[in-house]
Formats: sequence, C-alpha cells, structure tokens
Amino acid sequence: MCGIVGAKNIPNLVDYLLEGLRELEYRGYDSAGIGVIDNGQLKVVKAVGKLDNLVRKVMKIQWEDPSVGIGHTRWATHGKPTEINAHPHTGEFSCVVHNGIIENYQKLKQELEKENISFLSQTDTEVIVRLFEHFHDGAETGEEAFYKTISTIEGAYAILLISEKEPERIYFAKKGSPLILLQKDESFLFASSDTPLIGWGEKAIYLEDGEWGWVDTQIHLFKGKEKAPFHFRPLPPTRTSAQKEGYRFFMEKEIYEQPRVMEEFLLGRIEDDKVVFPEIEPEFWEGLSSIVISACGTSYHAGLVGKYLIERYAKIPVDVEVASELRYREPIIDKNGLFVVISQSGETADTLET
Ligand code: GLU
Repeated sequence: MCGIVGAKNIPNLVDYLLEGLRELEYRGYDSAGIGVIDNGQLKVVKAVGKLDNLVRKVMKIQWEDPSVGIGHTRWATHGKPTEINAHPHTGEFSCVVHNGIIENYQKLKQELEKENISFLSQTDTEVIVRLFEHFHDGAETGEEAFYKTISTIEGAYAILLISEKEPERIYFAKKGSPLILLQKDESFLFASSDTPLIGWGEKAIYLEDGEWGWVDTQIHLFKGKEKAPFHFRPLPPTRTSAQKEGYRFFMEKEIYEQPRVMEEFLLGRIEDDKVVFPEIEPEFWEGLSSIVISACGTSYHAGLVGKYLIERYAKIPVDVEVASELRYREPIIDKNGLFVVISQSGETADTLET
C-alpha cells in the first residue's frame, strides 16, 4: 500500500502533486503517475521506477490551466510493476488512483467484460474506473455513479477519482487505507499520510472508514447515504515529526510498525492460503531443487528466517551465504537451483558482486 496525493485549485498544481509524491517516497514504491484535468482535458503521465523518471516526463508537457489533479506511488499487489499497471488508471473520460486491494475485482472484471468493456491492465484497481464509467451511463449524477461504484467493490481502499465530465471535482472514498483532506480557503489537498500536507494548514480531516464524497467549491462528505460530520485533527508541526508518526525515534517506530508492514507487504500475495507471485511464470518453479540466499548484515539474518520458513513450508533445501565471503569462493551452485540476492544499504556492493 503506497502513496496518494490530490489537489484542486492551487497555484502550481502539478508541482504540488510531484512534491507530495516525493514526501511519500520513503514508504517505497515501484512506479508512479499523475492525472490532471488541464483545460477540461484529461492528461495522464506514468513511469516505472524512481520518481525522477516521472518528473522528466511531466516536465515535457505544456500545462495550460490545471483544475484538479491526482497522483500515486504504487506498490504492486496485482500485476507486474509496469507502466500500464501504474496508476492512474483511465477509462474513456476519467481516471483513478487507489491504495489497497479490491478483493472482488476478478468477478467484477468478468461481469464487465461480458458487457464488452475491455481492460488494459492486470491490476485490481482498473475495475474502479471501468465500473464508474459503466454506472455513469445510467446515472443522473456523477456522485450517484461514484457511490454505486464504491458500494459494489469490496476490500481495502483509499481512492481519488477525477473526470472530464466534472472538471472541477475530485471524488474520494476511504475504507481500510488512510486518506486525509485539507481545505485552505478555496483550495483542497489530499494525501494518504500527513507529510505532503505539512505547511499548508494547521488541521485536516482524517477521513474515517466508510466515508466518501467529493470536493468542488466545498467539501461534500457522506457515510453511506447520510451526510457525515468533519473530524478535524491538528497536523504534526514538522515533516520529521509527521514521519515519526508520534514515536520519539525512527527506530521505535520501525519496531512497532512491523506487524502493519508485514500485513501490507503480503497484500495480494496470499490466495486460498497459498503464497502467489503473479509476476513469475508458473513454469519457473518447476523442478526447483535448492535455493541459495546471498546477503549481508540484516539482510543475511532475514535470509536465515527465509531458510527456516522455506524449508518448513516448501520443503526445499536452502543455504544462506554471507555475500562478502561468497564472492571470493568458488561455490558449487546447482543447475536447477534458485539464487536469491537480498540488497540493503551498507554491503550491497558485495551482494552485487556475487
Ligand atoms: N492493488 C493496487 C495495485 O496493485 C494498488 C497498490 C497500492 O496500494 O499501491 O495496483
């Protein structure tokens, strides 16, 4: 689960999106993208890898008059980290960014495909924008289509959606993944954690599960069909304090966040009690006789935990090697073996050499 930003009616809107994504970089990601309604027209830019790759592409565009924009850093749960799978996902006239996982996407995708709606990506997220546009056809208002969409999807999500049909609106919804909204005069900013919002105001609305709505000239906030009250909370005073999320030290925070991190990185990786790697062809695993894990320091110790778990569950013998030693040896590596290298800062050079 990675990062989301959004903005309406601020000067240098595109810069805010990129700077906001920069603030969320520390959470890790595999690709990034932005979607902007510029002079009434939807423009989407995406890139795999570092944010700088996206920035280079965005800089080449002549922005005219951006009214609303959304941005995303992706940590893939469904589908490889490719440009097509990066967010925002687009339909004919709208685009969406999403953190989390849509559990019933396969069923919804099949139903939409039966209606001749085709999909471009392998993600669970694309179903959101396809559903929105599908419901839009029969709906009286955009909000009706959006509400139907979020009532149909199941899972965990923070969602922002913009549409050429309503170029002054940003739709939002939250369930299970964080989303924060800040209003400053006639401007509105969204982010999935508070760092991108620091400096823009003193308090923000920390959306609650089940809340959804849209911003135009004001905030329209609902829970189900009922209007919901705003829950303002003060923003942390500095970016560092925001990143520490209330803990005194980063180390303390990292210790306490381990269960959440484990949960997040396993999102989309377990189906019917089995670990899945959709980005790897099934034949890859056939005839696998042994595994060597090469790493240094903390990664070496992570490798030892890996050995324990892999041998226990997959029943494949695993050797864990210290990379700085292995590179000077002449190890005998099995032809049908799998060689895994784990990088980290510090002795990564040795790991790369092996
Ligand atoms: N499930 C979505 C995907 O794989 C969102 C991942 C995220 O939260 O970054 O694209």
